[in-house]
Amino acid sequence: MSQNQQLFDRAQKTIPGGVNSPVRAFKSVGGTPIFMKSAKGAYMYDAEGRQYIDYINSWGPMILGHAYEPVVRAIQEKALDSTSFGAPTELEIEMAELIVSMVPNVDMVRMVSSGTEACMSAIRLARGYTGRNKIIKFEGCYHGHADSFLVKAGSGVATFNIQTVPGVPAGVYTDTLNAPYNDLEAVRRLVEENKGEIAAIIIEPVAGNMGCILPAEGFMPGLRELCNQEGIVFIMDEVMTGFRLAAGGAQEKLGVAADLVTYGKVIGGGMPVGAFGGKREIMQHIAPLGNVYQAGTLSGNPIAMIAGYTMLKTLKDNPAIYTDIDGKTEYLHQGLDRVLAKSGVPYVINRMGSMISVHFSSHPVVDFTAAAAADNARFNLYFHYMLQWGVYLPPSAFETWFISHALSTEDIDRTVAATASFLDTL
Ligand SMILES: *Cc1c(COP(=O)(O)O)cnc(C)c1O
Repeated sequence: MSQNQQLFDRAQKTIPGGVNSPVRAFKSVGGTPIFMKSAKGAYMYDAEGRQYIDYINSWGPMILGHAYEPVVRAIQEKALDSTSFGAPTELEIEMAELIVSMVPNVDMVRMVSSGTEACMSAIRLARGYTGRNKIIKFEGCYHGHADSFLVKAGSGVATFNIQTVPGVPAGVYTDTLNAPYNDLEAVRRLVEENKGEIAAIIIEPVAGNMGCILPAEGFMPGLRELCNQEGIVFIMDEVMTGFRLAAGGAQEKLGVAADLVTYGKVIGGGMPVGAFGGKREIMQHIAPLGNVYQAGTLSGNPIAMIAGYTMLKTLKDNPAIYTDIDGKTEYLHQGLDRVLAKSGVPYVINRMGSMISVHFSSHPVVDFTAAAAADNARFNLYFHYMLQWGVYLPPSAFETWFISHALSTEDIDRTVAATASFLDTL
């Protein structure tokens, strides 16, 4: 029996499904999950010593590649000063100042420990600020696993085709309204039908949890305009796009302003970090300044902060990193385009910046319905074939591939060659 199989069998005895986050279990693509032991740069190494070119990059955070030395060193040094205080530190100020200096429309920021916490807190703040209860989200978007968001959600919820999540009270469901991504008219209708009741619209400005889906021309500015007209708090969930699409995230890349923004993934440099921030006018309602309560024993934790700070400072000081990873992603896009077009297999590649995904679809993939209608059984075959070639793609068609700065042209060539070889088997 393989090492991975042994570990998986053992894991399932004490961990539900053998994993601490569902998509890791390979349940939708089938087969045994790969247990990782170490990673460096663009490569991960499993329990059996096999090497993989990594297209997950911890689902985003490893934008500079694994075990990026300045981050690792900063963590090691900081740990000697104690790993937690439960009291404020100067480092938290430096982190907040750095974020505010990089990102538009953020005057104040509160650190938390995950993207889920950031989105959950931002919604509470929007409700507390507006005195309204309902929120509008988009089918196939994922904002973490807080109750309010688990209605027609993306990522693992879509991967496992969970229609309604047991344990989420119906009262919570009724306050979460869903619209198809890219359907501005549907949003206008929801706002009209619930006049004066919508606290917030929350969206992934570039969707990454149903594969990668780009906002159509005019969609994001249209939402911004609607929020202005109706006094709705516009929340951009930049957990995936923040510090990835640009130093200023999707707000900068798309040129659309948010009222509140949530962060996760890259912001922690691989440590458990999230954040939400925005205009002072709204943020001042958060406790202890206001009465919208929100707290965290390990929020602003020094080890997490130094990892995130070091990562963000590197990105801020080296804007060429963005040009470089975007160029690498474009090179991958062109290579995949070439072999897919030649094969005659229907496909759609969606890409923005260093987010990209392949859908085996003959129709444009612009929303969740289109993503779900693609030949995702074929994606599962593709995934396993690539794994054999030592290329680790996300184990679901409903996830985006994340490109890191450490990825080389040779790695990309190998990925394209593996894809061509897969297409030959069809
Ligand atoms: C990953 C993700 C989250 C949840 O973040 P966690 O750190 O996993 O809780 C929220 N929103 C988006 C857009 C994400 O991609």
